[in-house]
Amino acid sequence: MDHIELAKQTEICKNCKNIVIGKGNPKADILFIGESPGRNEDEQGIPFVGAAGKNLDSLLNKVGLSSNEIYIANILKCRPPENRDPLPEEIKAHTPWLLKQIEEIQPKVICSLGNYATKFFLADCNVDKMKDQDGITKTHGKVRMIKINGKEIKLIPLFHPAAIIYNRALQTEWEKDIKIVKNELSQKTLF
Ligand code: URA
Repeated sequence: MDHIELAKQTEICKNCKNIVIGKGNPKADILFIGESPGRNEDEQGIPFVGAAGKNLDSLLNKVGLSSNEIYIANILKCRPPENRDPLPEEIKAHTPWLLKQIEEIQPKVICSLGNYATKFFLADCNVDKMKDQDGITKTHGKVRMIKINGKEIKLIPLFHPAAIIYNRALQTEWEKDIKIVKNELSQKTLF
């Protein structure tokens, strides 16, 4: 079964309005990975178009990162009912699609947004090991090398833009962390 068929076997894929694959520049050096589509994303078939997306846009604007320089996708390609947390079986079925996207985009930097995406990459993409990983509070803003499909990529976890909407302190942390991302991107010797 290929990566798309595997995801389509899940209940969330059978019950959603739209499969949300990604948006942005498929040749971007930087890839943002969120958790799963919400109501607005499900309606439109585009990731990060609701409140979290608007917050992400304004945060990126502030540091001068345009939508043309980035690509954005999610761990899950379909909205879980009532926006519940992703289930391990869903992550297992949907992340082969994400890994295929990463293989095609070949980003230099991945920014994982929030706990789910961060733990997935810290666990070397092994869903069973996600529960043993440090969460976003400990890992945000820390740069580390990970290997995906045999390629070295820099991982920089960031707080999820939905989590920081009403939290000034976390927003300040995010702004510090994204400067680290920009600095890593501007280094000529990324590897
Ligand atoms: N939150 C996410 O993690 N992804 C989206 O696409 C929207 C909200």
